[in-house]
Amino acid sequence: MNQTAKNADDNLHLFDHGGTTGAVIRILPDAARSLNEMLPEELQQTPDQKLRFAYTCCYLNHRDCHIMIDAGIDGDEVTATLSELGVAAGDIELVCITHVDRDHVAGLLLQIGDGELAYPNAKYAIDAGLWADLHKPETYDSLPKHLRRLFERLKELIEDRVILCDGESKVADGITFVPCPGHRPGHAAYEFATDDTPILHIGDAALNPVWFEHLDWPVVGDTLPEQAMESRKMILERAKETEALVIGTHLPWPGIML
Ligand SMILES: [Zn+2]
Repeated sequence: MNQTAKNADDNLHLFDHGGTTGAVIRILPDAARSLNEMLPEELQQTPDQKLRFAYTCCYLNHRDCHIMIDAGIDGDEVTATLSELGVAAGDIELVCITHVDRDHVAGLLLQIGDGELAYPNAKYAIDAGLWADLHKPETYDSLPKHLRRLFERLKELIEDRVILCDGESKVADGITFVPCPGHRPGHAAYEFATDDTPILHIGDAALNPVWFEHLDWPVVGDTLPEQAMESRKMILERAKETEALVIGTHLPWPGIML
């Protein structure tokens, strides 16, 4: 196997579910972290466990619509990967934003000039409250300069292209925005109806399956850990009821659970 093919295998996972095809795209090498680092002291385990985290974004061809769920960290790299799949960045019609951490949205921009939109013809679904927060000066007070610049540029470029989602709502034909707050303000999951069971992209609602096994464990680092726990229970319940194919940004590669 040549190097290119090997990299493609390692960095791209293709799937087909109920007539919707897609690809999980690796955006960074896996990371390993200690479980105990992510648990409050009273819940720390002996022995500790090493957990693996993938870093991904996701492409879907859903009812002939080209969709990205988040955009990774490097727009140039992800769009190059898409073109290997025969999808031009200009073909992407919808970007579903789960939240605005850098590893999810920095890839919305290309590295040219002041940063140009990687997906210039897309609409951008985002939580309405989060979008409003991005317009409040105080949101930027605590942010490092590079993030401030990223959000300001993004705001400017997608202002006329946002689909503001307020509560559970329809984004487009067969696509539902599911608020899933706690990990970050405005964090959301997206559900895609297919000819089979739905595809449910949970973003960062669970970073590793261990939190689905222990629904009463908070995650140190979540903005509102209690609320994130409630969201995690809700989304797992929903996935069980609908027998969804679950995709999570950081779940062990390729980040898909049935
Ligand atoms: Zn993340």
